[in-house]
Amino acid sequence: MAYEREKQVAMAAVRQAAQLCEAVRQTLVPEAIEKNDKSPVTVADFGAQALICRALAEAFPQDPVVGEEDAADLRQPEMAGPLATVTAQVQNHIETATAEDVLAWIDHGNGAVAPRYWTLDPIDGTKGFLRGDQYAIALALVEDGDLKVGVLGCPYLSFDGGERGLLFVAVRGEGAIMMPLGGGDAQPLRVVQDPQSEQFRFVESVESGHGNQSQQSAMAQAVGIQSPSMRMDSQAKYAAVAAGQAALYLRLPSPKTPDYREKIWDHAAGTLVVQESGGCVTDMHGNPLDFGQAARFENNPGVVVSNGLLHPQVIAALGQSAP
Ligand code: AMP
Ligand code: MG
Repeated sequence: MAYEREKQVAMAAVRQAAQLCEAVRQTLVPEAIEKNDKSPVTVADFGAQALICRALAEAFPQDPVVGEEDAADLRQPEMAGPLATVTAQVQNHIETATAEDVLAWIDHGNGAVAPRYWTLDPIDGTKGFLRGDQYAIALALVEDGDLKVGVLGCPYLSFDGGERGLLFVAVRGEGAIMMPLGGGDAQPLRVVQDPQSEQFRFVESVESGHGNQSQQSAMAQAVGIQSPSMRMDSQAKYAAVAAGQAALYLRLPSPKTPDYREKIWDHAAGTLVVQESGGCVTDMHGNPLDFGQAARFENNPGVVVSNGLLHPQVIAALGQSAP
């Protein structure tokens, strides 16, 4: 099977990072540290990035990692406390890790897009993590701009009301599966196609500033979705579409932040999981997301994720709607 080693390393690394995140959530009251762009980051974001980058650096030393975080802030003297906490959390998994190791592993995630690279969001949906809602650990391998492996760990997600914690794994051309994060049987993923189904609904962000909720509702209605949206943080939304729990995920540019450009790590793993479940992912004009250029999509406004069948209708409705 193609990419078997990459898949196994990525799954193990995401599981380890998910354990760290849940440990932080359960044992510490996670506090937000404000980044320069005013977005929040926590010791769990840093710890998860350290563990995953360490695993990737060991298994695939040549591969750059384009991760969301870097260690510049953590290196400041006033951050000694958070750095000690991150290091202690990492030591629960890698006993010998020093603070210097942790900083170096985090900065291993400072790579650039290359012919082959990994992209990582150690905690996607940090606001959800802090609120006690959904978040995801998202890791993907890209070769020549094409997604090859996508792994999404969703420690707080459950679709059937059962135990929380799901792992989603996709390899290009080989389908996508879901399994309990803590281990157990895998099941294949398939998008929902029946318009009569209760799952024929749409998902969008909890954070209204991360999209255009009025336009999103109008577009969902335009393609025949009557029920109100399911609101979720993080790439758990992609997981919901892949697992047939929703037919559509809309992320249209917020009128408040027209210059915002989506980041590759917020979409890479989720995109492959949905595509390999029979769904479709494009920007709002129907163009494929371009993972081959840079850490942000310069020419891909908005993101439309669907069961595939709905896709042409959504793109047509967007084309007709006022900008
Ligand atoms: P979500 O949990 O789907 O609301 O998305 C969380 C992600 O939204 C974060 O990882 C950020 O990278 C991203 N984000 C931050 N600001 C914006 C914005 N103005 N528009 C769209 N996405 C944003
Ligand atoms: Mg994110």
